[in-house]
Amino acid sequence: MEQVCPVCNALASVEERCPVCGGPMADGGAIENYLGPYSPYMPVDSLQQFAPDRQCVHLLYCPRCHYDTRAAWELVMI
Ligand SMILES: [Zn+2]
Ligand SMILES: [Zn+2]
Repeated sequence: MEQVCPVCNALASVEERCPVCGGPMADGGAIENYLGPYSPYMPVDSLQQFAPDRQCVHLLYCPRCHYDTRAAWELVMI
């Protein structure tokens, strides 16, 4: 048994809708991929606040209007 993020592992799909234009949001990947010199999206302490253990935080973006947000998924056992 292993705990994995259902979205990272293609077990679940993103079904969020953009609150701005109503279009489907796209998964931009796990937020941890954004940490680093290219994207100072989030300071470390707010990341920890947002991502307690057992959750995977993803960036969601709207391809139409470029709105972006973050969403956390509970890890699942496989
Ligand atoms: Zn994930
Ligand atoms: Zn939008």
